[in-house]
Amino acid sequence: MTFFPKSDKLEHVCYDIRGPVHQEALRLEEEGNKILKLNIGNTAAFGFEAPDEVLVDIMRNIATSQGYCDSKGLYSARKAIVQYYQSKGIMGATVNDVYIGNGASELITMSMQALLNNDDEVLVPMPDYPLWTAAVTLAGGKAVHYLCDEEQDWFPSIEDIKSKVTPRTKAIVIINPNNPTGAVYSKELLEDIVEVARQNDLLIFADEIYDKITYDDAVHYHIAALAPDLLTITLNGLSKAYRVCGFRQGWMILNGPKARAKGYIEGLDMIASMRLCANVPMQHAIQTALGGYQSINEFIVPGGRLYDQRERAYQLLNDIPGVSCVKPKGALYMFPKIDIERFNIYDDEKMVLDLLRQEKVLLVHGRGFNWHKPDHFRLVFLPHIQTLDDALSKFARFLKNYRQ
Ligand code: PLP
Repeated sequence: MTFFPKSDKLEHVCYDIRGPVHQEALRLEEEGNKILKLNIGNTAAFGFEAPDEVLVDIMRNIATSQGYCDSKGLYSARKAIVQYYQSKGIMGATVNDVYIGNGASELITMSMQALLNNDDEVLVPMPDYPLWTAAVTLAGGKAVHYLCDEEQDWFPSIEDIKSKVTPRTKAIVIINPNNPTGAVYSKELLEDIVEVARQNDLLIFADEIYDKITYDDAVHYHIAALAPDLLTITLNGLSKAYRVCGFRQGWMILNGPKARAKGYIEGLDMIASMRLCANVPMQHAIQTALGGYQSINEFIVPGGRLYDQRERAYQLLNDIPGVSCVKPKGALYMFPKIDIERFNIYDDEKMVLDLLRQEKVLLVHGRGFNWHKPDHFRLVFLPHIQTLDDALSKFARFLKNYRQ
């Protein structure tokens, strides 16, 4: 009898946000348990709705969107993306430099498939949004993790980045605002990163999907604007700020000396055409979303849901003995530290699983974000305050007597 194992290519590929713990949560739900989910950045699941105008635009265009479109996406949507970046001072791109995908996720995978030869290295943050490490690994490359330093507001350590560059390093990934830490990088830090990229001839991937979700005095800077002389690929999409992750709309835009990337661009075009095109009706939302009124702004100021929920989750977490957390300045997540000596934790996935089974609260373990120790976890602060109160008081109760 023939057995069909997964391919060797997948041996080291991980995506734990939807991994075994998530599967266990689904099983418990099927048994009739109510799970308090603090695990996934799916805004719609927590009652955040899309702006009406976005929905109207899709409905108006659905009848005329039955065919495939250009592999890079609808012209009008790509034009709107170019104009959006022009309005931010990023002038180097044309409509041909924009690729629309079924979410930024698809483009992350495509961008690595087109770039990497076996054993090429890409600098990826630690902790990271784990799709980046997975996409590099699936493409045959090696994700080399650089440290984001909790003691420095989770800013990347420039020294660590420099120490990890080798002759095989092709690119560096920057996630800003960051998932899972919530850090929003200063202009000075980004300039330092650009300088390392310049010195070592690295391509910069800027994952800026949370660029409009910042709190307090945090200002988001687009790294492409700080590096016009370097090749940058900026990724973004409608999933977060426009609350329509189910519509699967993301884009990437290339800036800088594109003549030097002729071969890579041919590769990207080929991979884009292999999957024909992204979902067409949903692309009509892009122009509307990017222009005009930005309803996300209501959520990120005092009195707005995201702001208030962040405040509450931050306070409740830091009140739990043995747990501490840096306050996020952007995005939808926190990456708190847990005192592993106190609870004798050696396996963070087990801790998260024990919590799930005991209290029916779902978090994601820190090593799922390629963090190097079992001493962190991630939660989303998308749930309403009552749910956060409920979930975090259960977490506190769980930890009180927890020993691994
Ligand atoms: N990048 C980051 C940092 C994310 O957090 C996510 C989703 O959570 C994505 C990319 C993928 O977004 P999408 O595929 O929905 O556009």
